[in-house]
Amino acid sequence: MERFLKRHLSITQLCEQSWCEIKMAYGFIKPKVRMLEMQNTEVTTGASIHLARELEVKPNVVTVAAVTREDREALKLINMLQMVPALEAGQLVREFPVFGVLEGMFFMGVVDELYRSDSGELVLSELKTRSHNSLPHPAQAKGHALQVGMYKLLFDSMVKGSVKRDHLLHNLQLDPNRVLGSDLQTHTQSLGLQAVTFRELLDHLLVVLTCSNLNAIDKLRLEYSHQSSGKLIGTREVAFEEAQLRTNIRGYLAYWRGERVPQGVEVEEAWKCRMCPYEETCDWRRDRSQRLMMVNKRAKLECPKSDDPKPNGSNLNGSKLEVEYR
Ligand code: SF4
Repeated sequence: MERFLKRHLSITQLCEQSWCEIKMAYGFIKPKVRMLEMQNTEVTTGASIHLARELEVKPNVVTVAAVTREDREALKLINMLQMVPALEAGQLVREFPVFGVLEGMFFMGVVDELYRSDSGELVLSELKTRSHNSLPHPAQAKGHALQVGMYKLLFDSMVKGSVKRDHLLHNLQLDPNRVLGSDLQTHTQSLGLQAVTFRELLDHLLVVLTCSNLNAIDKLRLEYSHQSSGKLIGTREVAFEEAQLRTNIRGYLAYWRGERVPQGVEVEEAWKCRMCPYEETCDWRRDRSQRLMMVNKRAKLECPKSDDPKPNGSNLNGSKLEVEYR
């Protein structure tokens, strides 16, 4: 956290970490490469689709000038204050911010979609747009499940009243007494909100969340849609296993707390390296390739007939593994 000057984490960061920790760390060390990756067509098309969907349910967008950091955070809180009653009234809301402390770390995220199902369940749904017209590989789906699970943990703690004012103020280094900008104050008054400082607005939101009739999320859902055709590829329901989820989060946080070095992908998932922008320069990949080559050589010396594949398909001379890492 100190090395990368961080005080809190985004849920997206943890999902990237679940794909490959080394890749995520390279994103901080080599920000230009990451920036280029974030500008690829698949990412920008996905962002445009999300924005279009958000605007579908927010037809009356108004422009409000935000001058300070507190103003910018206040805008998110004001949006939430408008979405809570909409959700209570059974309407669908999109791009709902969530924040709070999980396993001792402050996290932030934005939920794609919240709504009540026909049977009254509160559903959290995450849209994933894909350039391929197919459901994702289990390795990708693992990150998606982590994402919605963490959103649920944060949302549930917000409506239960476990999120405290100081969590947000301290971790985002915000001044509670900062007076909101004049444009923002005019906007809050037009919505019937009586808040002059950032603290007043935040306190109001925390009370509204706790006193709302919203309860814990009942169902987690992933929706996959094809980018070019816009057609639905499929949906998946995600099982919520809190104990396992928290164990996984603690495992990821051990890296952020400096308790262990980052881990790259293991040989079974070496295919990820072929689509990685750091493939050519990655020390982890080079290390693993060299180690595998040594294993190959040793196995060939110890077992001259090892070119014959084993009955179960695994070839102990490691040639398959070596090819994978190239
Ligand atoms: S090349 Fe492979 S191990 Fe290295 S950062 Fe990329 S995905 Fe991770």
